Amino acid sequence: MPRILFALAFAFCAAAPAAADPGIRSDESNQSLSRLKEQAKADELPKVDEPAGAAVEQRYWVVIKAGTRQQRTAIATAGMAIEEVKSDRVSGTAHIKTIQALQAAGFEVLFKENLVKWSKDFPPQDKAYHDFARMKAALDAVVKASPRVASLFSIGKSWQGREIWALRFNTTESGTKPSRKPGAVFVSDHHAREHLSVEMLIKIAEHLSARREDPAVKRLLDARDIYVIPMLNPDGAEYDISTGQYKWHRKNMRVNPDQELGVDLNRNYDFLFGGEGSSDQTYSDTYHGPSAFSEPETKVFKDFLDSRPNVRTLNSLHSYGALIMYPWGGKDAPIDDAADLKAFQAMAGAMARMTGFGAQQSNEMYVATGDCTDWAYDAHKIFAFTTELGGRGFYPGAAEIDKEAPGQVQAALYMIEYSDDPRRAAR
Ligand SMILES: [Zn+2]
Repeated sequence: MPRILFALAFAFCAAAPAAADPGIRSDESNQSLSRLKEQAKADELPKVDEPAGAAVEQRYWVVIKAGTRQQRTAIATAGMAIEEVKSDRVSGTAHIKTIQALQAAGFEVLFKENLVKWSKDFPPQDKAYHDFARMKAALDAVVKASPRVASLFSIGKSWQGREIWALRFNTTESGTKPSRKPGAVFVSDHHAREHLSVEMLIKIAEHLSARREDPAVKRLLDARDIYVIPMLNPDGAEYDISTGQYKWHRKNMRVNPDQELGVDLNRNYDFLFGGEGSSDQTYSDTYHGPSAFSEPETKVFKDFLDSRPNVRTLNSLHSYGALIMYPWGGKDAPIDDAADLKAFQAMAGAMARMTGFGAQQSNEMYVATGDCTDWAYDAHKIFAFTTELGGRGFYPGAAEIDKEAPGQVQAALYMIEYSDDPRRAAR
């Protein structure tokens, strides 16, 4: 195994009440330019009030001694968001209550530091990253440049009422009109602080647009139904940068009944919901939510896939870990169908070669239930992959965008290509 930097990111929350930012509720397309101008003046990202006792102050970067997969799963179940795995230890973020629970269970804490000390000003070089308004503007620009192949629509609204935008590439159907062409879906930012995943989907969209006349790309645009959803958790992404300091926020912005904030969207899907590797503690970074699809973000994504039986492949991008993974993540077993398993392995292997990442079954590091890709394969037999991007940490700097984009674009073209018949990849 290469460097075992693992991740399935998560974040926390401290949150604004749902009505804190009324500006986001209305017509984004008309507002995006003026917002862009406003934000270009810098230091003017929308301020979000934090409730008393919120979040960051109670959360730590922590290193726990653990040498087995069973121990790692137990640690994840206790609510720690494991981000790095070494042979004898795991590192990641956790609420102080999670750390105390782990200590009570006999786990040794090798290191911990409050995340407040890790917060930093939004560095000028990270202005290349897209916040919600700039992301929308980038998608609008693609549609404007390629109106005959690209269209934009919202699949629904987030907890706080932001639109969850989907950019579609299809030369014969636009918007929400059904298609019989094989479908490929890319989705990013289940986890708020994984901003690099947003950037990769913007790069993929811009590549499809800019190269739409290249024969290799044109062939795919003619024959496939492609969806790019760069920001499934727009509330969390905005909150993470809302004060000019990164907040290490992973979850969405639900205000739980006990005033703890957020649900881990990638534990909220209906596959072994509430099982191992997810927490029932609302303060935890891996809190799975009150019920499967309780969150508007996962519910609208479920509805999106449920209503598109032509979708055959899915890539859910996260950061970080430099891995391409396939189901199961929540079950301590390989998938049953041998032909599907061979196809998953072939496709993950090919995309790993293109990106320089590792390829593995999702549960190899630890078991985590309720995730997007397990559900997509279980419910719809979609060949669904989880990509953990490279780079060091959640805030790897702007240089990482251009460094990773070429590999991600190649992997995306590959996945789109095999969306007609994923098993073809193993033949
Ligand atoms: Zn993640």
